[in-house]
Amino acid sequence: MSLSGIPTPGFGIYIHWPFCRSKCPYCDFNSHVRERIDHARWRNALLAELEHYARDTEGRTVTSMFFGGGTPSLMEPETVAALIARARDLWPVANDVEITLEANPTSAEIEKFRAFRAAGVNRVSLGVQSLVANDLKFLGRQHDAAQALAAVQMAANTFDRFSFDLIYARPNQTLAQWRQELDRALDFAAGHISLYQLTIEPGTQFEQAVARGDFRVLDEERAAELYEATVERLGAAGLADYEISNFARPGEESRHNLTYWRYGDYVGVGPGAHGRLTLGGEKFATRQHRAPEAWLDLVERDGHATRQRDPVPRAERLNEMLMMGLRLKEGVPVARIEAESGQAFERAIGQAQLARLVDGGFLSISGDHLCATQSGRQRLDAVLAALIT
Ligand code: SF4
Repeated sequence: MSLSGIPTPGFGIYIHWPFCRSKCPYCDFNSHVRERIDHARWRNALLAELEHYARDTEGRTVTSMFFGGGTPSLMEPETVAALIARARDLWPVANDVEITLEANPTSAEIEKFRAFRAAGVNRVSLGVQSLVANDLKFLGRQHDAAQALAAVQMAANTFDRFSFDLIYARPNQTLAQWRQELDRALDFAAGHISLYQLTIEPGTQFEQAVARGDFRVLDEERAAELYEATVERLGAAGLADYEISNFARPGEESRHNLTYWRYGDYVGVGPGAHGRLTLGGEKFATRQHRAPEAWLDLVERDGHATRQRDPVPRAERLNEMLMMGLRLKEGVPVARIEAESGQAFERAIGQAQLARLVDGGFLSISGDHLCATQSGRQRLDAVLAALIT
């Protein structure tokens, strides 16, 4: 916490591993399937981008690292160890640094857990997605429910902290079915769980399947019913809905993701990774080249594959901060709204729109924070569209 009582957003490092065993039909992440990967080349290139960004951010204290993807549990543990060790050489690192690695619950990946822990990883986030056999097949996953739960157990035994993800609001899923699955998941959950509603993203296999009429997504009303039941059930189990899709016991929140949502700074390395860096009072948006092989060639040639490194205009800074911060139950500190926008709160936020959204029960001013209510967070895109005009 800072002296003013506003939590400090921290400084994170995101590392993107763009490879997966197969492509899940709902996935629009920058993930690719390759027969062969030259791990030594990839290790050196990721190290090079880390060094590139360290030059800009010397002296900042790293509060979190996050290996995301793709499937970073397919990385060689030596690569993860080398990246963590290099980060420790390049920056001061907080004593309680959180180092998360996303993992899929297949047996080959579980076998590497101990090596990842020895590399310095202290938290894993497991892509369980469902505990129902048919739904795992529908989601194109390579594990079954028993393997997933074994992986959760192994994560609990190996790492200080762990989380796992489920996807709900699946076609034809009833409230009773979801409640049952959620109860089973809660038997295995510890401090954190992520529960995402199935959405159909452009360019995915599911988009084509829906267009063909293979299945229909749940209607909004049913999905909202499932969301409300989820928040209630998790709350009763002591896991608060600190973010729209993320639930945690106090102190168990994902510190790395809090940095994004609190609009803090983070370095992003690897194909397609984004970053936000405050340099000389300006906020810069960075983005690395997206295609894996081209990224690798560019890094080997230039030492980095930065495609974008642009200052974010003041108005855009405010919009970005609201888009991220209103996802959080804690909301956005008024002082941060004023600092990012460079204006008094009353000028930064349209007062007529704000009054309408407060009257409608979607936003509230709670203490010195602007917050979205549960109803507001449930339809945040519409709330933001009405607020940011
Ligand atoms: S494993 Fe994750 S990143 Fe890879 S295709 Fe599936 S959902 Fe996407």
